[in-house]
Amino acid sequence: MPRISTVLGQVDTSKLGFTLVHEHVLISSAGLKDVYPEFIPRESAIKEGVRRLREAKSEGVTTIVDLTTMDLGRDIRVIEAASRQSGVNIICATGTWLEIPRAFRTAEPDDIASLYVREIEQGIEGTGIRAGVIKVAHDVGGVTEPGEIILRAAARAHKKTRVPIITHTWAPERVGEQQIRVLEHEEVDPNRVCIGHSNDTTDLDYLTGLLKRGVWVGLDRYPTHRPDVPDWQARTRVLRALMEAGWTDRLLLSHDDPMTMLIAPKAVFAERIKRNPDHICFIKRRVLPYLRELGASEDELRRLVVDNPRRFFEGAQ
Ligand SMILES: [Zn+2]
Repeated sequence: MPRISTVLGQVDTSKLGFTLVHEHVLISSAGLKDVYPEFIPRESAIKEGVRRLREAKSEGVTTIVDLTTMDLGRDIRVIEAASRQSGVNIICATGTWLEIPRAFRTAEPDDIASLYVREIEQGIEGTGIRAGVIKVAHDVGGVTEPGEIILRAAARAHKKTRVPIITHTWAPERVGEQQIRVLEHEEVDPNRVCIGHSNDTTDLDYLTGLLKRGVWVGLDRYPTHRPDVPDWQARTRVLRALMEAGWTDRLLLSHDDPMTMLIAPKAVFAERIKRNPDHICFIKRRVLPYLRELGASEDELRRLVVDNPRRFFEGAQ
């Protein structure tokens, strides 16, 4: 039976169940929790995380992937507490987001990769809690020079550990294509890569092009209220179109809706919560029913939210 690292230890992949592949319990900035701990509302973040996770669990969600990296202020003990108190499995991440540490920008990819490998094989910050996924992020402007260093580091850590990679992209600029180019150069099996945030576009040519190259596609932003990206209904129609084109078994869903977030102004974050009272239940409450309306079967829906994440983590074809 294949097993995967969660923050509470190894779990059979068959136990993952309904899995959201890109979420965050708490987002802040690197170093704050150690140097200025009083700046981080740890207790309320745990409380809010547990509340959200219990709510999701009561509606059938059994696992989330928390893609918070060091440069997003990852606090592994907060994630661990949220999982323990809610009963939801959490797979945590190594890797790097957009706030690439200045010292990484002049480092060798292999030297960064060995840090990721340590977090996967031994644990994070001396806790013994092991990362089960590698995150890497590129946004507007694509894969920059420092961005390429962390992408190659992610590729090499993956090749050493077989732990899969989930990316952050800016789909309107087709950044996924740039990531794949580098990953192919590093000879990474595309079946172990999910090109994330791909539902910030409705460009079916772009999305189908990614899928044809053998990667998984993350439709992992739901809902969103930015005027410059598709709304949730448009996202869901694109999802349904991809299913109808035969790609049901290559798609991964999630919200990317942080439970506590310190990197946005308080008022902006409060507005975000107000606009999405369903939070990480949004897919269950809104997207799946809309997919049913668009003709999806129960079998297809189960494949999307249960079978696909399991197969992705197992590395099954
Ligand atoms: Zn995210």
